[in-house]
Formats: sequence, C-alpha cells, structure tokens
Amino acid sequence: MIPSTLEYTKARSIDEALAAVAAGARPLAGGMSLLPMMRLRLASPGAVVDLGGVPELVGVCEDGDELAVGAMTTHRAIANDPLIARHCHVVAQAAAGVGSMTIRNRGTIGGSLAHADPHGDLPAAILAAGGAVIVRGPGGERRVDVGDLITSYLTTTIADDELITQVRLPKDAAQSAYAKFHRRAIDWSIIGVGVSIGADGVRAAATGVGERPMRLTGFESVLDGGGSLEAAIARAAEGLSPTADLDGSTEYKQHLVGVLAARAYAEASSR
Ligand SMILES: Cc1cc2nc3c(=O)[nH]c(=O)nc-3n(C[C@H](O)[C@H](O)[C@H](O)COP(=O)(O)OP(=O)(O)OC[C@H]3O[C@@H](n4cnc5c(N)ncnc54)[C@H](O)[C@@H]3O)c2cc1C
Repeated sequence: MIPSTLEYTKARSIDEALAAVAAGARPLAGGMSLLPMMRLRLASPGAVVDLGGVPELVGVCEDGDELAVGAMTTHRAIANDPLIARHCHVVAQAAAGVGSMTIRNRGTIGGSLAHADPHGDLPAAILAAGGAVIVRGPGGERRVDVGDLITSYLTTTIADDELITQVRLPKDAAQSAYAKFHRRAIDWSIIGVGVSIGADGVRAAATGVGERPMRLTGFESVLDGGGSLEAAIARAAEGLSPTADLDGSTEYKQHLVGVLAARAYAEASSR
C-alpha cells in the first residue's frame, strides 16, 4: 500500500528538527517501524522530519562514568562499537541480534526506544544496564531513566514536540549479557532477557512479557541476597503474566523468562 501524501523535510541540526516537531512533524529515524506503520495506515502523519542529516545525533563517546550515544546511532554501529562492547556488553549483544542486517543498518537506538515495541530488544537491554535518555524540547533538556520512559504498548513519556537526542549508558555494565529466544535468526524476541552485574548488585529486565519491558525483581533480590541461581530462576517470572498467543502459553513464556535469565546471568558472570 502507498502511504498517504505527506510533507517531508530533512533537518540539518537538532534545532531545525525541534522546530519541525513543534510545528507538528513526526520524527523519522531509520524508518524501520514508522514506514511499515505508514504503509499499513496505522500511522498517517501529515509531515515527517528526517533526522538522518543531523550529525550531532550520531556516534558514541565517553562522558564521565557514562557513555553518550547519539539517538541516530544504528543498531549495527552499536553492535560493533568498541566502547559499548567494553563497558555495556548487554546493549551491544542485544543490538547485534536485532532483525536482519538491513534492519540493523537502518534502525536506530533512539527510534527503538521511542517506538517502544513490547518485543523490542534494545529497551529491555538498556533497562537491564540502568540506562537513561536525554530528551530535548521547547522547555529545554531533561533526563529520563529508561524504566520511566516506556509506559505501555507503543507509548512513552516523550511529548510530540520533544526528541530523544542521546542515550546514556553506564560504564559499569561490562559484566552483562543478553539472551533472546526467537523462532528464526531474523525474528523479534518471543522473550528476551538482559542481565547486568554491577557494583550495586544484579539488574535483570525482560521483553515480551507485557506492554513494556519489565525488571525481574524476584530474580534480582534472590541473587542480591546471596541466594542460589536455582532459587533466583524459580522467582524470575514473579509478577509477570505474558500474553498467551501463537508463540506459546503464558506458562511457557514464564518458563522462558527463567531459562533466559539463567543463560544471561551465566554469560554475564563469566565476563
Ligand atoms: C522486519 C523487522 C524486524 C525487526 N526485528 C527487530 C528485533 O528483532 N528486535 C528489535 O528490537 N527490533 C526489531 N525491529 C525494529 C527495529 O529495531 C527498528 O529499528 C526500531 O523499532 C525503530 O527504529 P527506527 O530508527 O527505524 O525508528 P523509526 O521507524 O524511524 O521511528 C519509530 C518511532 O520512533 C519515533 N522516533 C524515532 N526517532 C526518534 C527520536 N530521536 N526522538 C523521538 N521520537 C523518535 C518515530 O517518530 C516513530 O514514532 C524490526 C523491524 C523490522 C521491520
């Protein structure tokens, strides 16, 4: 299906992009989720502003005890970035497992977080790492923890006139890993779990378990309290009730949460 008529502009700076979204344009990042939605008429923006010409939105650098990642940095660049591999392995590993090479070449970290798909890998991996986003709008800049960013299915706390400009990743998430279960190599996660073992303890988060990525608080508290991995696995899906569908029953998906949490924890521990 051909998308409906729309106005297209390409921003050259963050300010130009902000002016366009303030005037009602929808941000266009890699287009890997927005364009399919437009083709299906699930989204019909009257105007889009392409963020692909804004150099400030691309790249990874160190900033104190964090990595600053431009919102337009692609999954492929993230998967191959030496700083992310060294300091925040869980995010590099999740990015490497996103869809196909085509999707990874175009899709971006900012687009993935803003789109907030309940089966998205990056949001769960960044939640496990304890990351945050920098959001810029007419009122200036604000920082939002990823745990407070996604509120439900495809819904975030970002206003229509705001943009994610940066993703902030902690540098103390080196001992971390992401485990994903899917049918074929290019598929979305049925369930995915990220685990990070840092100075403050274990953080674990899952995708595919509800309307948004969720922390595995039962799993975390057992391990932080010195309990066994077996006991932690038994509590991994505590409080989670993944929807039964063609991929499996609620009970099967709860079982997968435990299996993947154990895999990710074992890999993170060995790093
Ligand atoms: C076949 C296929 C397989 C896929 N498999 C996976 C998978 O296995 N795992 C996975 O996690 N994802 C998967 N994806 C999704 C992929 O990760 C997308 O890249 C991602 O969901 C959206 O990123 P994007 O840069 O393409 O954003 P776009 O599609 O351009 O935008 C998505 C939404 O975010 C908004 N937006 C974009 N950037 C910003 C910004 N900086 N500030 C504010 N709002 C913004 C847009 O307005 C739009 O609403 C798949 C997609 C496809 C088509």
